[in-house]
Amino acid sequence: MKNPATIAKPFSTLLLLSSAATCLFLAYSCLHQSTITAPKPALPVPAPAVPVPQPPKPAPIPVPVPPVPRPPPVVTPPVVIAPVVPPPVTLPPAVPTAPVVKPAAPPAAAPAESEKDSFPKTPFHQALRAAMKARGMKLEDICDAANPAALRILEEYGAVLLAAEPAKTPPACIFADEAAIQKFQASAGAKETDADGVRLTLQPAAMDSLIAARAEAKLAGLSLTPRNGEEAGRRSLDESRKLWSAYVEDGLLHWLHKGRLTRRDLTRIRKLNPPAQLGEVMKLEKRGLLFGLNQDKSILRSAAPPGCSQHLSLLALDVAEFADPAIREILSRHGWFQTVGGDYPHFTWLGVPEARLPELGLRSSTASGQTFWVPDLTPPPKPMADH
Ligand SMILES: [Zn+2]
Repeated sequence: MKNPATIAKPFSTLLLLSSAATCLFLAYSCLHQSTITAPKPALPVPAPAVPVPQPPKPAPIPVPVPPVPRPPPVVTPPVVIAPVVPPPVTLPPAVPTAPVVKPAAPPAAAPAESEKDSFPKTPFHQALRAAMKARGMKLEDICDAANPAALRILEEYGAVLLAAEPAKTPPACIFADEAAIQKFQASAGAKETDADGVRLTLQPAAMDSLIAARAEAKLAGLSLTPRNGEEAGRRSLDESRKLWSAYVEDGLLHWLHKGRLTRRDLTRIRKLNPPAQLGEVMKLEKRGLLFGLNQDKSILRSAAPPGCSQHLSLLALDVAEFADPAIREILSRHGWFQTVGGDYPHFTWLGVPEARLPELGLRSSTASGQTFWVPDLTPPPKPMADH
């Protein structure tokens, strides 16, 4: 029989061992738990670290940029809008302003309409209008202001329309045909003289002045003779046409060789009637394709288009001694002046002293030491427009 104490000892030992084991297990469990939870904090740390820095960075960048530029533009518009609003408000009360403008418009429009078909307000055109009125004529009746070529003709050769009475001025700035020229020359009267073997024909008043000038020149030991025969004075439409055509043909060939015109252009322009051809040549000259002598000046300075020459009015003379200042002075004393710029031998009978020419809307222009009295095309004075 075993002593209960003897039996209890192994049992106590077991109990102790069991407790020890339990403690060990618990200790292990605790250690193991701490090992598992340790990595958990490690993972969340890096994760939040990445997203955190990103949001704050973009935030600060946009904030400073937009606020700075936006304020200025926002401030400017309101400033502009503010002044715009007041004026409209002020205008309505200023009722007189609106009504004044409206009634002024109709009267201004009315003359503007009539002036559309009328002529520029230059000293020349004004004087011409007055001269026509004195003769019971209207400027509109003798020249079509809507036709650019006719306007140009008027500005180049229009001085002849200012000739003093009793000379008769042409009824048109461009004669329509030979019949119209014959009719005019018959009504104006023609006086002939023999000038050193050349038969000259002019209107009586012009011829009387020429005869007196030739006598004065003769007394001074000078000669005053026509240039290039009878054509120096009276000229027919046919002669005028031939001269014109010769210059047009020269110009066409010149610009064809220069490569500025084509064969097709030549064929087309050659076939045009004189008025249409004049318009076409004027267009080409505007582009720099000149048709005058040597193609370095306008054809209008070398040959008048058919129906446009002052010679048709029997009030022009081409003088052989045009380069002699003494001859030019004698001619001017008898009412003869160079009125077509660049056409040196050509003189027009105006029948007035030289001092009166500015009153006629002509201005002096000097070229190669010679004084031309050409249409004064100065625009209306600006002070008038300013008021
Ligand atoms: Zn001439």
